[in-house]
Amino acid sequence: MSRVMNFNAGPAALPLPALERAREEFLDFAKSGMSVMEHSHRGKEYEAVHDEAIALLRELLGVPDAYEVLFVQGGASQLFAQIPMNLVEKGQSADYVVTGAWSEKALSEAKVAAAMLGGGVKVACSTGTGEGKEKSYVRCPLPAEVKVDPAAAYLHVTSNETIHGVEFEVDPARPFPQAGAVPLVADMSSDFLWRKLDVSRFGLIYAGAQKNIGPSGVVVVVVRKELVARGRKDIPKIFQLRTPAENRSLYNTPPTFGIYMIRNVLAWLKGLGGLGAMEARNRAKASRLYQVIDAHPGTYRCPVERESRSVMNVVFRLPTEADEERFVKEAKAKGMVGLKGHRSVGGIRASTYNAVEPAWLDALAGFMADFAKRG
Ligand SMILES: *Cc1c(COP(=O)(O)O)cnc(C)c1O
Repeated sequence: MSRVMNFNAGPAALPLPALERAREEFLDFAKSGMSVMEHSHRGKEYEAVHDEAIALLRELLGVPDAYEVLFVQGGASQLFAQIPMNLVEKGQSADYVVTGAWSEKALSEAKVAAAMLGGGVKVACSTGTGEGKEKSYVRCPLPAEVKVDPAAAYLHVTSNETIHGVEFEVDPARPFPQAGAVPLVADMSSDFLWRKLDVSRFGLIYAGAQKNIGPSGVVVVVVRKELVARGRKDIPKIFQLRTPAENRSLYNTPPTFGIYMIRNVLAWLKGLGGLGAMEARNRAKASRLYQVIDAHPGTYRCPVERESRSVMNVVFRLPTEADEERFVKEAKAKGMVGLKGHRSVGGIRASTYNAVEPAWLDALAGFMADFAKRG
């Protein structure tokens, strides 16, 4: 068996021990004579896994009692619509901070969902410049740039822009915006559980699992109970956040294998020392790459402003697209895959999620320095 160094943006690398554990338990889970996927979601074997995954999430992230931890299906994209459906009242609007492609998508879905229910959305701040193919996002806003409507249902931010490589609060100069009494809602799909976080600053956090904590098919939602209770009741039950909240995320059949894999990944994360240890490891990994980029300005250029550079998705350009193609090809020949930038922006992107091993960054940084020297 030979496993590659996987820098994919999502679905992305999973920790080898979490995969090995799944392999060991695959055919005969907990001496039950069947795979976890073949169990009823109402049986004690599966329920133990389900509860353990939630307990690990609560423990690792330090989730206060006033918050629910939910599993939802449909991807983070479904939450783009589901959050305004739950939280925007008739005649009310929600505020959005737009810092890249994912917040653009969240905004445009919210526009439709809120309008359908008699509400609206507003852009509290956008850092985009240019139009069409020239549109670019290279930074997070300063707090003073974000104009929050005190009557807004919530303020939505995309904590890490996976495509543009722009992330909040990596540098203290670019903190999450202050929302006052307005609940702060954050899409943390690509930077969930990479560092310690004070959950009480947020009204709602959501994250598709396939970037940093598991396979696709599950979204984790951490939400203040009071917001769940306030949610609209005139929308289908399946979209109300109170439905998973009142049923331990077992209202209908959950994606059992995905939740099982999250359990395995979180057990691995806990074993490595939890979020404090993971943050130090991740910061060192990303800075390895930014150092090589900055040390070779004739070859590499990171478009993102220094204070907003993502620790999870390191994006950079080479002088020409032909150079970028050659870079990706040569890296692949050395066992490093997933380095092509998103098709909408081009360039190179190295995703450095929790499961990406520090040794892979050494290999990539070494290759980059050599590539630059060769010209
Ligand atoms: C990948 C991603 C999404 C979309 O996730 P799906 O599960 O494919 O719907 C949303 N937001 C961010 C920040 C992402 O990285």
